Amino acid sequence: MYRIDHWIDGHTVASTSGRNGNIFDPATGQVQGTVAFADVSEVDKAVANAKAALPAWRATNLSRRAEIMFNMRELVSANRKEIAALLTKEHGKVTADALGELARGLENIEYACGIPNLLKGGYSEQASAGVDVYNIRQPLGVVAGITPFNFPAMVPMWMFANAVACGNTFILKPSEKDPSAAMLIAELLKQAGLPDGVFNVVHGDKVAVDRLLDHPDIAAVSFVGSTPIARYIYETGTKNGKRVQALGGAKNHMLVLPDADLDMAADALVSAAYGSAGERCMAISVVLAVDTIADDLVSKVQSRIPNIVVGNGSDPSSEMGPLITGEHRDKVASYVAAAAGEGAKVVVDGRDGAPTEGFFLKPSLIDHAKPGMKCYDDEIFGPVLTVVRVKSYEEGLQLINDNQFGNGTAIFTRDGGVARQFQFDVNVGMVGINVPIPVPVSYYSFGGWKASLFGDLHMYGPDGIQFYTRSKVVTSRWPDPRTSKVDLGFPQNR
Ligand code: NAD
Repeated sequence: MYRIDHWIDGHTVASTSGRNGNIFDPATGQVQGTVAFADVSEVDKAVANAKAALPAWRATNLSRRAEIMFNMRELVSANRKEIAALLTKEHGKVTADALGELARGLENIEYACGIPNLLKGGYSEQASAGVDVYNIRQPLGVVAGITPFNFPAMVPMWMFANAVACGNTFILKPSEKDPSAAMLIAELLKQAGLPDGVFNVVHGDKVAVDRLLDHPDIAAVSFVGSTPIARYIYETGTKNGKRVQALGGAKNHMLVLPDADLDMAADALVSAAYGSAGERCMAISVVLAVDTIADDLVSKVQSRIPNIVVGNGSDPSSEMGPLITGEHRDKVASYVAAAAGEGAKVVVDGRDGAPTEGFFLKPSLIDHAKPGMKCYDDEIFGPVLTVVRVKSYEEGLQLINDNQFGNGTAIFTRDGGVARQFQFDVNVGMVGINVPIPVPVSYYSFGGWKASLFGDLHMYGPDGIQFYTRSKVVTSRWPDPRTSKVDLGFPQNR
């Protein structure tokens, strides 16, 4: 048994709230540790420290900020096996997947290494006689990040790398289900040379989140999690005058056209639906199969499922680990249990033969799903792939555009013209063309449309820099004493 406390002002601070949560080992189902749940005074302490660290940090020169990010890049890379082991221990994902998460997170730290270039403004000389105009981007102040259980290292990296490099100080409220990675990240940032107080971690639940949302010294909130909470964070944070980006849930559809390479599509579907036990916001959870190839595609997916090795994430032979909690595993299983009664056909039932110890469920495949069935309408967030049979490209496109979510989507086809039309027509934020999980590289930005994102700016990349800074425009004249005179007219440029 171990205990996770807060990280404030560069060191661990024991919680005095008296409130705690259990940390489970999802592979055994046993409690392995406890995590502190902050009360209001503990959040206030973290914010006060972050506020105190702000003046010196925002005045730190850009070369030094870049140097710290370069140091952090090296430290995360050198400690990747240790961080990955923590992810497997608390989240349950297999080691290869945990290392993949870190590699994608690291891209965001690498992007922030370019901060001197990213913060360049514009300059207009001689906008009026002797007058120059230029804009600069300045940090917002103390900003907060609230993150989900499914990427305990990568999603914080989406946020803090740019936030801190831009000159803000940061409070992370990680998921209470797998809180340890955040603490190791905090230690590495300190080793990288980040001054105490610039990066802080408070653990907890709604009490901590609500305090961050109404604390007057928090300037902005980045959130990633489920749609109902994302909507709540956006509405509450903006009502309190904060800048908010809140990324929500997903139901990502892959449209497979008759001319697609069906083996390639089946490989991609199995990887994208069952990787990380389906607990990815970019997982494919629905395949739209055009009628003429649907039987073939379903049987190709079905034939691949028995080869997936389900087991403890720390076992190198495992390809898919457990789900995050017993409660979540039961909820996911309930969709499979209800599917036949709703009129769908359960082709593979992941409840059969699942290990009884730990929070395991094997992959499920549900055919003949339709809108109106819960297995189609809801975000399941588990290893369940539903198949909807469609007559045409147009019918598939309509289903995607009618869906409440718009995070990711993919089309599999050999027809470049149709793929280009899809990219033009589809109301989704991230699109893959023969790519099942189109998570943008760090120099683009990540974000969905519709109920998958509340706010105006996507996360990380160029939008991240914009989110964590505000623009100031300076109009400047250095008077020439030879031309100075009194003029009460409104300043004009012509
Ligand atoms: P969640 O919404 O339950 O929790 C996210 C964060 O909000 C956690 O830190 C949690 O402690 C906090 N929280 C939970 N309930 C709260 C409440 N009532 N009030 C205030 N704060 C609360 O999400 P999760 O289960 O940790 O993660 C899975 C969800 O996240 C899925 O819906 C998935 O699609 C989504 N997700 C989205 C993206 C994306 O980029 N769009 C990425 C990863 C995960």
